[in-house]
Amino acid sequence: MSKRGHIPLRTCVGCKRQFPKKELLRFTRSPEGELLFDERQRLPGRGGYLCRNPACFQEALRRNAFSRPLRAPLRIDKERIEREFSACLMPKK
Ligand SMILES: [Zn+2]
Repeated sequence: MSKRGHIPLRTCVGCKRQFPKKELLRFTRSPEGELLFDERQRLPGRGGYLCRNPACFQEALRRNAFSRPLRAPLRIDKERIEREFSACLMPKK
C-alpha cells in the first residue's frame, strides 16, 4: 500500500470514483442559483466534484447529479455549462 492517506480525495458525481481533489473540477452554485465551475477551487459554499471525462459530465447532466452535493435547486444552462466545461479542459497558458 502506498501512503496516500494525506492526499485529499473527492468523488466524481459522474462515475462515483475517487480522485485526488486537485485533479478534479470543482463546481458550485452561483448566488443566482446557477451551476458554475470553480476552476481555482476557491469559491465559498458547498461544492461538488467532477472528473475531466466528458462522459462523466454528460452523465451528471443526464442524472441531474450536479444538484445533489450542493443540496439546493440548481438552474443549468446546458449550452453555457458545456462551454465552461470545455474551457476547463483546455491547457492553461
Ligand atoms: Zn468521473
